[in-house]
Amino acid sequence: MVTTDPEGGGLVLHADTDVCAGAGQCVRAAPELFDQDDDGLVVPLATEIPPASSARALEAVDLCPSGAIGVRVLSRPDGRENRIPPGP
Ligand code: SF4
Repeated sequence: MVTTDPEGGGLVLHADTDVCAGAGQCVRAAPELFDQDDDGLVVPLATEIPPASSARALEAVDLCPSGAIGVRVLSRPDGRENRIPPGP
């Protein structure tokens, strides 16, 4: 899921349940941003990341063993997104 911010700027979450391995590292790193469903798959609790949660969001991305989650930076003047980590 990719969400765009019409105002530009800020960070948004990207989560792919087809890739999620259900390890739960994201929930432990940023419980305000992630949950898991009954099958253990990631459930994003927010699309836009509050500034106070940015560091935990990036930690969750680092800890995720499957690359299922990412953060998109919406700060480019042309409106295109930069994904952290780079990928689809
Ligand atoms: S850390 Fe990654 S693999 Fe584990 S539940 Fe979260 S998104 Fe899924």
